[in-house]
Amino acid sequence: MILVTGGAGYIGSHTVLNFINKGYELVIFDSLENGHIETVNTLKQIGNIHFIKGDLRNLDDVEAIFSNYKIDTVIHFAGFIQVEESVKNPEKYYKNNVLASINLFNTMVQHNIQRVVFSSSAAVYGEPLYTPIDEKHPKKPLNPYGENKSQVEEILKEYDAKYNLKSICLRYFNVAGADLQSRIGEWHEPETHLIPNILKSIFEKDKTFKVFGTDYDTFDGTCIRDYVNVEDLAEAHYLAYMYLKNNNKSDIFNLGTENGSSVKEVFETVEEIAGRKINIEYQERREGDAAILLANASKAKKILKWIPKHTLEDSIKTAYLWEKSKH
Ligand code: UDP
Repeated sequence: MILVTGGAGYIGSHTVLNFINKGYELVIFDSLENGHIETVNTLKQIGNIHFIKGDLRNLDDVEAIFSNYKIDTVIHFAGFIQVEESVKNPEKYYKNNVLASINLFNTMVQHNIQRVVFSSSAAVYGEPLYTPIDEKHPKKPLNPYGENKSQVEEILKEYDAKYNLKSICLRYFNVAGADLQSRIGEWHEPETHLIPNILKSIFEKDKTFKVFGTDYDTFDGTCIRDYVNVEDLAEAHYLAYMYLKNNNKSDIFNLGTENGSSVKEVFETVEEIAGRKINIEYQERREGDAAILLANASKAKKILKWIPKHTLEDSIKTAYLWEKSKH
């Protein structure tokens, strides 16, 4: 069986749904600090899902998973994801994102489980030295969150050498969209991400959308990001799982569309889809934001045979419908 840590969260739940659609039975492990029980219940109604509420920082909880279920592969999403909070409270982030991962990997090794797909991030690169960014770009994270992801990648490298634990690290660029039927979607509290924040300004009265910075060195002055659809991303996890099973080889892949969109282009697309104007407030730059983050994802396309199918419009449409369903 496949274990999905953080399976009640945004990308985790879409990955679970994709595996369910392919006929898999899975175990979700989640502390529900950031994940949602409603998401687990929805997934349980759709497929053959087992749920364990637990904390990876607690070794007994981790041990309980592997003693109770016959796991052959782990997809590891669990972790805290707020960059700003990681700067304010680095200890919380190192404990939850790095120590918790060590607990997981050690227990896997003890139980002779040798495959893990790890949810990494483009945050490992820091300020780009060139663009688009390929996997060979040096790692120089700008904050503890990015450091955590980078360190876990390094730990996995060591664990492959020492314990033969094989891993695929997937470095996501910006993720967007929701399930086509609005059963699950992006749901963070507090919400810091661009597209859900724009949508909230539509559905929640008195909410204004704040643009962080208009003086970047880009064609319209706002930041450019590479928004990859969450269902395409979920499929990449399936391909990574198959790759590990068939090749038994560790590797690292960027996941992005290789197309950039500015903040302005994103909110204009939302305005088009929603059929209304958004209340916008222009603000100073947010600390730590790079002007342009764009993926070179040719390695994932070539080796994993990953083909991202959805456009930014597709992602915004499903995100819109999901947000609408919550109001
Ligand atoms: N952004 C913004 N207003 C918001 C949230 C984000 O202008 O309410 C901008 C942010 O400065 C960045 C882009 O949107 O340039 C994407 O930010 P997000 O937090 O979604 O992802 P990140 O690129 O930081 O991982």
